[in-house]
Amino acid sequence: MKQSMTLIPTLRENPADAEIRSHQLLLRAGYVRQNASGVYSYLPMAKRVLHNIEKIVREELDNIGAVELLMPALQPAELWQESGRWYTYGAELMRMKDRHEREFALGPTHEEVITSLVRDEVKSYKRLPLALYQIQTKFRDEKRPRFGVLRGREFIMKDGYSFHNSQESLDEMYDKFYEAYSNIFRRANLNFRAVIADSGAMGGKDTHEFMVLSDVGEDTIAYSDTSDYAANIEMAPVITKYEKKAEAQKALEKIKTENQKTIEDVSAYLNVTAAECIKTLLFKVDEEYALVLVRGDHEVNDIKLKNLLEAENVELAEADVTKSVLGCAVGSIGPIGIKNIKIVADHAITSIVNGVCGANEEDFHYVNVNPGKDFTVNQYADLRFIEEGDLSPDGQGIIKFAKGIEVGHIFKLGTRYSEAMDATILDENGRSKPMIMGCYGIGVSRVMAAIAEQYNDEKGFVWPANIAPYHIHLIAVNMKNEEQASLSEELYRSMKKAGYEVLLDDRIERPGVKFADADLIGLPIRITVGKKASEGIVELKDRKTGEMEEVHINDLQSIISAKISL
Ligand code: ATP
Ligand code: MG
Repeated sequence: MKQSMTLIPTLRENPADAEIRSHQLLLRAGYVRQNASGVYSYLPMAKRVLHNIEKIVREELDNIGAVELLMPALQPAELWQESGRWYTYGAELMRMKDRHEREFALGPTHEEVITSLVRDEVKSYKRLPLALYQIQTKFRDEKRPRFGVLRGREFIMKDGYSFHNSQESLDEMYDKFYEAYSNIFRRANLNFRAVIADSGAMGGKDTHEFMVLSDVGEDTIAYSDTSDYAANIEMAPVITKYEKKAEAQKALEKIKTENQKTIEDVSAYLNVTAAECIKTLLFKVDEEYALVLVRGDHEVNDIKLKNLLEAENVELAEADVTKSVLGCAVGSIGPIGIKNIKIVADHAITSIVNGVCGANEEDFHYVNVNPGKDFTVNQYADLRFIEEGDLSPDGQGIIKFAKGIEVGHIFKLGTRYSEAMDATILDENGRSKPMIMGCYGIGVSRVMAAIAEQYNDEKGFVWPANIAPYHIHLIAVNMKNEEQASLSEELYRSMKKAGYEVLLDDRIERPGVKFADADLIGLPIRITVGKKASEGIVELKDRKTGEMEEVHINDLQSIISAKISL
């Protein structure tokens, strides 16, 4: 491709609103442009990177016998009503109406569409297993679109779904996808780890997320310092056994705590530790409320809460809701005297003797609070986030944290969708039963951002050769010089003929501009045709090492082939 004919709008400065390196560089190097919050155009360079990633994805999935199809982004509401998710998916689902007032959603994922499709076409166990995938634009009205294409509201996903006659068949397919994903992310040159993830209240139990280790990751991975245990902190169980403090229970007392709102305020004011305070939070759980208690030094894990209560949606109640339900501010909530609201507590609460909690009244707290005596807990469970220093859930070593970008997710769905949507088959004995399903996602545009985040230096991108938009950046220093222009054209043609992807900078620009742009765009090899063109000598620069050498055009081919394997 000739640079004069494509669109690579590089910028000299870092865009002010881009916080992380990959986002800055994707904008600066002319790869993407924002159209609205979380909505991007992929310019020609990015399109080629995406193409390379998709090629790897397709090869590995085709290898395990999955087949590609393409489903519509526009999905009728009826399908989502059948699965029930129309009512529970929440604000992330982009909903719309057509001219006849019929409701639709722009697909954030395709379980409903694929289940209805396979339900209508596959009736016998003999057609299973079946694994189908697509690469397509997804829509999610994210609360916080951020970091450019890393978390968009419109993004490209590879989503795959498998259908089975038995659990064993699903297990087998799951393992194949696990292997294929490992191959994909390895070939994408990512430093990643497969971690145990949250399986939700419904569906099968196995699920893994593929996490790229990165400081800008929004997920936290809890891993053991001794074993190979690694899990998303969303689901890592806490196995600590709590001992009740050896101390005589005292009589409950209500104390004035003027203007003391947070756990820090209250514990300092009353001269107790945070671990002696009962943190009480009101959660909206689907259409009901629940009071959740954790120790003052712990954090409620809303995923564990959601799973415990088998809810579709849990969220912290807003201040005005808390006021109307409990009659007090968020900082004053406590479990004493609460009626008609379920109280669930983390196991650590059992260790509290003579603790502190809110009194459901502004500026007052209770002291000498004893669970069981002063209030009743409906259910104790593991409800807190694991912390660094906790025991590893596999019993080996202690937990440490690392940040990760979730690039892929595999999940045993079980019969969650086939039952709700009546997708059944006749088995070997002629009996009707729901198909067993798995689902498998990769954030293709997020993978691009993750690679961009990992492969750059102070001057720009340093793409791995199999991901780079082109292999070679051929720079004609002075296109007005006939010898340089004709040698550039000649090399352009011969290198393309040899199978390399070449970007020829044929623009009439100062050399400094061309070199800076080349570093920014980040192709693995730069070849500069300059003053020595008449002698058949060019300059070759390795983008990664920065090494430059003069090379005779007769030796060019062998040097390039040593650096780039096609
Ligand atoms: P996250 O926790 O990051 O919101 P998710 O659990 O909602 O991800 P899935 O529903 O499992 O994601 O979607 C499959 C894959 O799609 C994810 O592993 C991720 O790589 C990608 N993905 C999800 N949401 C986005 C987004 N807003 N922008 C870009 N990629 C995304
Ligand atoms: Mg999400």
